[in-house]
Amino acid sequence: MSQIPERVLVQAHLAAKQPPVLSEAEQADYCARIAASLKERDAALVAHYYTDPMIQALAEETGGCVSDSLEMARFGKEHPASTLIVAGVRFMGETAKILSPEKRILMPTQEATCSLDIGCPIDEFSAFCDQHPDRTVVVYANTSAAVKARADWVVTSSCALGIVEHLMDRGEKIIWAPDQHLGGYIQKQTGADMLLWQGSCIVHEEFKAKSLLDLKEVYPDAAVLVHPESPASVVELADVVGSTSQLIRATQTLPNPTFIVATDRGIFYKMQQAAPDRRLIEAPTAGNGATCRSCAHCPWMAMNTLPRVLQALEQGTDEIIVPPELIPRAVKPLDRMLSFTRNANLAVAGNA
Ligand code: SF4
Repeated sequence: MSQIPERVLVQAHLAAKQPPVLSEAEQADYCARIAASLKERDAALVAHYYTDPMIQALAEETGGCVSDSLEMARFGKEHPASTLIVAGVRFMGETAKILSPEKRILMPTQEATCSLDIGCPIDEFSAFCDQHPDRTVVVYANTSAAVKARADWVVTSSCALGIVEHLMDRGEKIIWAPDQHLGGYIQKQTGADMLLWQGSCIVHEEFKAKSLLDLKEVYPDAAVLVHPESPASVVELADVVGSTSQLIRATQTLPNPTFIVATDRGIFYKMQQAAPDRRLIEAPTAGNGATCRSCAHCPWMAMNTLPRVLQALEQGTDEIIVPPELIPRAVKPLDRMLSFTRNANLAVAGNA
């Protein structure tokens, strides 16, 4: 199993110079210039829930999209713009390129990566798969294009449970990569036969069950919302476990006045929009002792800034290039996921 020192990379990033804080006037100026540039260049801004709220707001105002990685992929594929600027982390830009090779895909910075992607290098992963040729290879979207090209299925946290159940019904045994916590959660829910790669998300891994219990005592009316990339001890304390979109929906459907949220705090922008009268509290991490020192914020998502969005648009920097020979193989498991979720949604609509 891979033991790539992603923690070392995170520490190096945190030690690096952070972008300057913009004044309100500067923010407004960047937003206006980005909006104009999107129009001029026939481009759409696609942002993940974990990015800066200003970028999420701008994506909404300019007809782009703010969503989880499944919907980002679907939106980018279906939108008519010839250029997509993907605010998120690198695998999201690569996914957009694989699904729409004819489009130009830009990112605010390609340095924005993900500990799950780093922790699953293709050579080691491919060797692992070769040792278990009887197993169906299911990989999380948070992986490189090369790992996707080695897989039978790609999943996101919003559809992983349904797809694994579907494979289990067909009697298939599974290799799951890279997130061990999400894999463990799905294995527990479904009883599927899954061999787990031992990757993890450096943000969700820092949520602490003991501190969460203490916080629940302070807010007895609060519901606990947990993303399943968190450790099992934290998932056990959840009222709702789900993908980012599912957690946002929970703030509208549960009656609680307060929510303790165990995922990246960037999601508060959409949660507050969905449920403006509710109080949102970050689930506790190990704070300053944590690896990422993030207090629930992904250091790579934080690299997406307004100046970088503008620079990428105006200068065409950080264009995503996926080796053309990988695209036909990587698109198959992605198309399977999109088709599965489309059919599942149709079935739900049909039953409604
Ligand atoms: S929050 Fe975790 S899973 Fe998401 S991009 Fe950051 S490191 Fe990767």
